[in-house]
Amino acid sequence: MQNLKAFKEYLSEMRHVVIVTHVKPDADALGSSLGLAAYLKKKKHSVSVIAPSDYPEFLEWMPGNDDVIVFEKEKPAPCASLIQQSDLIFCLDFSSLNRINELGEMVRQSSAKKVLVDHHLEPEDFADFVKWDGTAASTAELVYLLIKELGDEDWIDSDLANCLYAGIMTDTGGFRHSNTNYKVLHIASELVRHGANPYLVSKLIYETNSIERLRLLGFVLSEKLKVLPEYNTAYMVLTADDLKRFASQTGDTEGLVNYGLSIKGIRLSVMITDRKENVKLSLRSLGNFSVNDLARKHFQGGGHRNAAGGQSNLSVEQTLQKFLSLLPEYKEELIKEGN
Ligand code: 5GP
Ligand code: MN
Repeated sequence: MQNLKAFKEYLSEMRHVVIVTHVKPDADALGSSLGLAAYLKKKKHSVSVIAPSDYPEFLEWMPGNDDVIVFEKEKPAPCASLIQQSDLIFCLDFSSLNRINELGEMVRQSSAKKVLVDHHLEPEDFADFVKWDGTAASTAELVYLLIKELGDEDWIDSDLANCLYAGIMTDTGGFRHSNTNYKVLHIASELVRHGANPYLVSKLIYETNSIERLRLLGFVLSEKLKVLPEYNTAYMVLTADDLKRFASQTGDTEGLVNYGLSIKGIRLSVMITDRKENVKLSLRSLGNFSVNDLARKHFQGGGHRNAAGGQSNLSVEQTLQKFLSLLPEYKEELIKEGN
């Protein structure tokens, strides 16, 4: 952090802190938020964690989960007043305020100091203090580094370490994606030294499926996954009926898009899902092909070079047609030999 000294000084008094993360939080979003909350509570600040929406059940084991306040559109008052009364707002694991829906304007208009801790590309310029690194694999790593920069590494206990470890583990796809490097493994190892339990965390996140979720996976792989070899592209479309048929819960579709990318030769994989709120796109790529650019340019989204998301106000079928119509434009890049 550039102005670390001023930040440290600001934290030397007891503060009313709000930590907010992105809509449909994943393990990095929630883990980094709860890890940071645990640290700030130890330092005697008053801390509230706000999630803009619900999140998967497989994250509910995280220490501190019971205190998370989930924003409700019909009842915005509790979150609005917390934000109004705060003097420090941390924005974790998202880079633009439109990623937190209605909370975005509340945060923007608040007179509190704002802190951005994030690793998504092209961050919006709204924060007073910034801990941003587009090359970091996860926000959890940046929370760890921030605690360390503040000279408080020894305050990390096993609960806090498990929260941060979960974020690193999932954002690297279990230490398999191209963002896994020496620094990531070193920080993960430091967290284990502080008491994180890799076996337990992976069990709690990856091996607590419902039977419906596994059946949905089977159905998607056999019926929904399509391959376009001429574009090195795979895609899958999940309709509202599909989700209903498998009693799909928040988080059940997480990771499905990666199966497309696991096919030999595939460079781009897309999942289009018909959600209640809108049509959601989840994109993954290999090498230099940037799904961040594609999502930003065509689907009001963004993320990282090899993992991004977006949305569309068209129907699910029209969204697929729009996506397919873009492929010729990207063909050359998609079929290029090498990276
Ligand atoms: P996922 O496909 O798992 O939902 O998201 C992949 C990556 O893209 C994550 O880092 C996520 O935070 C980001 N992302 C997902 N949806 C959106 C979106 O609508 N807008 C932006 N800017 N980023 C997104
Ligand atoms: Mn992340």
